[in-house]
This record gives sequence, structure tokens and C-alpha cells, in this order.
Amino acid sequence: MDKISIIVPCFNEEEALPLFYRRTAEVAGRIEGTETEFIFVDDGSSDHTLEILETLARQDKRVKYLSFSRNFGKEAAMYAGLSHASGDYCAILDADLQDPPELLGPMYHTVTQEGYDCCGARRTDRKGEGGLRSTLSSGFYKMMGKICKLNLSDGERDFRMMSRKMADAVLEVKEYNRYLKGIFSFVGFDTKWIEFPNAERAAGTSKWNIRSLFSYAMEGVFSFSSAPASLATAGSVLSFCAAAAVAAGSILYRITAGSWGSSLLPVILLILVLNGIQMMVLGILGQYLSRDYLESKNRPLYIIRSQAGFE
Ligand code: UDP
Ligand code: MG
Repeated sequence: MDKISIIVPCFNEEEALPLFYRRTAEVAGRIEGTETEFIFVDDGSSDHTLEILETLARQDKRVKYLSFSRNFGKEAAMYAGLSHASGDYCAILDADLQDPPELLGPMYHTVTQEGYDCCGARRTDRKGEGGLRSTLSSGFYKMMGKICKLNLSDGERDFRMMSRKMADAVLEVKEYNRYLKGIFSFVGFDTKWIEFPNAERAAGTSKWNIRSLFSYAMEGVFSFSSAPASLATAGSVLSFCAAAAVAAGSILYRITAGSWGSSLLPVILLILVLNGIQMMVLGILGQYLSRDYLESKNRPLYIIRSQAGFE
């Protein structure tokens, strides 16, 4: 009998968790020839998420949980869940039912019968999501595809089921600055996509704001592409051309007008432009350096305060 590990990152999900557990346990119980293990990861919640998990673990032997000492972020929670999973297949689902558990059956069929190592889910629309977030997100995925040579698709979620082989490969990537969608693409393997219309949160509120989404996007770019660093080269060519143009202009002025003229405006403009380019390039290099700095510290990705259900 195959074992499916269902990994669920949870941050302040007291309202959604009971609904999630009921619906997912019911659906998973119907997948023939399988047994289920739930691995909930409480990512430093400040509400009653942990109490709910303790109760579930007491009532249902299939429920295991890890509880972090503080909020480490969804990426760390997913890594922790994957590294504690013992299933032949691992699935990652959000706790808010935005990832419909009904897709677990078709996903299991895909990874066992159709020769794929992974089956992921992709939203066909972003109904219910803010207009600005929606536009920025789709633009981001298009740009990532171009500059990072990563195969990301618009609407792709972390929601997927993968084979043990692929889960082990993902766990081998131990970097501190994690961007799991990029890591999935990096480790390769054949992935089939199932499409579904966007579902709104069952309860509670989204944990993201524009600022955290922006830093998530930056993580994707700087973890998987060195293209921004090559802007330095482009910037130096640009500034050389600008300097040459101003110099040529001045000489031309000297020849035609018989004097160097007195206007400092082009010189000031040029200095400002060059300074701007230098600052931008320094900022980009800083992004890479700070990431390297964090990697070299080799800090743990998460710290567990309590756990239950594991041998
Ligand atoms: N989450 C987490 N740690 C965080 C933020 C979110 O574990 O720091 C979990 C959250 O509980 C949910 C999933 O990640 O299960 C997705 O979060 P959310 O629904 O807030 O994101 P959205 O669906 O709005 O992108
Ligand atoms: Mg959500």
C-alpha cells in the first residue's frame, strides 16, 4: 500500500484548519490503495493553531505536527514538512483550502499510472485576488521565465504531489534563501499540470502583503539568476557612451562657437546619471553579497519547539 504524506504549512490558521482537516481527510480516505499521513507545520502561529493541531494529533493517529519556535516563513515550513515526511509520495497543500484537496486523487493517478514524477496544480484565473497583485504576479512569472531560465508558469502554486525520488532531490537543495518553485524547476523530473479555477480562502486572511510578495519575488530572481549582475556591464557601456557624447558635444561647441561655453548643465546631468547607475549596480551586488553572507553562516532553516506523532 502506498503512503501519501500531506504537508501543510500553517501560520495563524485557527479558522481554516478544522475545515481543511475535515475535507482533506475525507478526500484522502477515498484514494484507493493508499494510506495517509498528515504533517502540519505550525510556523510560529500566535493564535490557537497549535492547540488545534494537538487535539487533531490526539484524535487521529495519522496526524503529526511540528511547531516552530517562531515564524520562519512558508518556505522553511515546507522544507521541514518534506524532511519529516515518510510517504512514498509527498503532497504540499495550503491550509486555507485554496488548493482543492479533491485534486489529490487525480494527482496520485498521474504519478502512479502516467509515468510522471510530479503532478502540480495551476490556477486558470485569479478571481478574488486584488487587481494590482494579480497584474504584478503574472508579469513576474513571465520575467522569471525569461531571465532565470526557469520553467515557471503563471498560476503555478506550491500545491503538488511528487514521488519520493523527487522529494529527496528537493531536500538535497539545502540553501538558506529558498524559493521552492525555482527549486522544483531546478531539480527537473517530469511534471504534469492540472488546471483549476481559483478558490477563495475558506476562512481567515491572507498572510501576504505587497511588501512580503515583493521580497518573495526578489528571492526568486536573485536565487536563480545572475542576470541583474550583468546590468553592471550594460551600465558601464552606457555611461561610457554618454561620456563620449558629452565630450564630443563640447569639442564641437568649442570649434563652432570658438569657446568652451559656460553651461554646466550637461556635465551635472551626466554626473547624476553615472552616479545613479553606480548606485544601482552597487545595490544589485549587495543583494548577491547579502545572500552569500547568510548562506555562509549556515544557520538552521527552522527551529522546532514541539512536535508529535513522529517515532
Ligand atoms: N504560511 C506559512 N508561513 C507564513 C505565511 C504563510 O506557513 O509565514 C502558510 C499559510 O498558513 C497558508 C499558506 O502558507 O497555509 C499560504 O498562505 P496564504 O494563504 O496567506 O497565501 P496566499 O494564498 O494569499 O498566497
Ligand atoms: Mg491562501
